Amino acid sequence: MHFDIISLFPESFHSYFGVSILKRAQEDGLISITTHNLRDYAHDKHKTVDDTPYGGGAGMLLKVEPLTEAIEDIVSQKRKKEGKEKSRTILFSAKGKTFTEADAKRFALYDRLILICGRYEGIDERVTEHFVDEEFSIGHYVLTGGEIPAMIVVDAVSRLIPGVLGNEESVETESHSVEGIVEYPQYTKPETFREYTVPEVLLSGNHGLIVKWREEQSQKISTERRKEETKEI
Ligand code: SAM
Repeated sequence: MHFDIISLFPESFHSYFGVSILKRAQEDGLISITTHNLRDYAHDKHKTVDDTPYGGGAGMLLKVEPLTEAIEDIVSQKRKKEGKEKSRTILFSAKGKTFTEADAKRFALYDRLILICGRYEGIDERVTEHFVDEEFSIGHYVLTGGEIPAMIVVDAVSRLIPGVLGNEESVETESHSVEGIVEYPQYTKPETFREYTVPEVLLSGNHGLIVKWREEQSQKISTERRKEETKEI
């Protein structure tokens, strides 16, 4: 899987992608990540990539030409190199549909994801309408840019790629691997911390009882979370 990220701040990705599982996945050749500086696609000597919105209003918008040319450049490089590669172009936007584990699973089947990070007041809508496959939000709040959403998508998709996590089973039993179901509570040593103890069933050594308890807990918490989410809406 290759990720191309278009951003005004490519340096913001280096520390997150340079540690732990994502670092190892790159070293092992399971994923690769290229960041593209949007300013490299500016048309003037001042490297301008934003302008005021038509009709007025606060702030600046990322311009259509640099964004489109960056996308087209990546797509044409990709064609030259790899022919019939399966790719998807994704824009991060506070008004997009909410990114879920189901989307992460779907994206993990592609060869390449092109991720576009907005900034300022957002981007010229013509990019969204004509050059983007999907528009995603990572939640109902507004961030200053699409860089954290891009890190989230790279992380969520990468861990589903076979070989990236040591233990493949953990992907299947984790929260949201079945839609609407979250994981049971887990504990590690010591058995007692201050007055807080580990549920006895987990110390019983009875595998059948432990499985049953975990299923019940998972159902109970999932139902509670769903109720909370419905209330919030
Ligand atoms: N004016 C926009 C609006 O009201 O929807 C918000 C623009 S925001 C300040 C700048 C950029 O941050 C967006 O173009 C987008 O790329 C990113 N962004 C902000 N919140 C986001 C969210 N919840 N999910 C995904 N991207 C987000």
